[in-house]
Amino acid sequence: MTTLTRPELTAADRCDRCSAAAGVRALLPSGGELLFCGHHAREHRDRLIALEAEIQQSDNEMLELDASIKREGPTT
Ligand SMILES: [Zn+2]
Repeated sequence: MTTLTRPELTAADRCDRCSAAAGVRALLPSGGELLFCGHHAREHRDRLIALEAEIQQSDNEMLELDASIKREGPTT
């Protein structure tokens, strides 16, 4: 169980790929942070899983990413 202390995503947060409103924040193990809209979050989901990114979703935009990531993610 992880508890993120990052601020909620807001309308000011934009997808890194297309500048749409971001609904997902991916925190990389390296410390990097990526923002994705729903479309790009799905598109890059496998890549983010491979990178072991931690996914934070906006409450406003439940993308069904979380369940998949938890199912496929590392169990350590
Ligand atoms: Zn996008």
